[in-house]
This record gives sequence, structure tokens and C-alpha cells, in this order.
Amino acid sequence: MTDTASLSADPLARDWWTGVADGRIGYEVCRDCNAAQFYPRGRCTACGSTRVETRQAAGNGTIFSITVVHRPPSPALQAFAPYAIALVDLDEGVRLMAHADPALWIGARVRATFVPFGERIVPRFVAPA
Ligand SMILES: [Zn+2]
Repeated sequence: MTDTASLSADPLARDWWTGVADGRIGYEVCRDCNAAQFYPRGRCTACGSTRVETRQAAGNGTIFSITVVHRPPSPALQAFAPYAIALVDLDEGVRLMAHADPALWIGARVRATFVPFGERIVPRFVAPA
């Protein structure tokens, strides 16, 4: 497997992608105001506190938006097209962009799986089992 950590220069992003490669979706919660946020920033966007901790999402959520990509951003990803990209509202209160089953719809309940995509392992949301 490719060393996905080497693909990110930002240490917070590198840690996040390392977690994804291990089947985890991390998000941050502020220890001062309890706000949840994604993506990891190391600082609370609600109150400015640097006392944020990383937690692991259970991987369950709801599709907020979904689209199908027919023209990927690089030739290396053309073999994957068409594929779906969704905005998913996780039950923990954060929204993230991720891959998804193209048969899903806005409002569908989903759970996270993890699949190879190009040089990374990425979250891919599917209907609950
Ligand atoms: Zn805060």
C-alpha cells in the first residue's frame, strides 16, 4: 500500500489521512465550548480556543448533497469515473466531503466504508447494512 501520509504536508491533514487508512474518520471537539468541527484545524472555529481534541466518528450519517463525477481532476483517476462525491452530515454534527455510492440520494442514511482511490484510501459512504 502507498504511504498515504507522505501525500500531505500539513501535520493535521497527515494524521487525518493516516486515520482514514486505518478505517477511522477523525473530527475535532472544542474542550471549552464543545463545538464539533471538520476538517481538523487545531483551533476552534467557534471560540478560537486551541484546546481541541480529536475524536473518532462512528461513521454513520445522512447525505446532504451528492453528485457524479464524469471528468476526474487528473488522468490518473479516469479509470474510476464515473464516481460519486457526497457531502455527508455525520451524526457527530460535522459535514465532510467523501466518496459515495452513486445510487444514494439526498437524505439517505449512510455508513462509512474505506476503499482505495488513486494513491489513497478514502472514505466511501454506502447504505447501512
Ligand atoms: Zn470552542
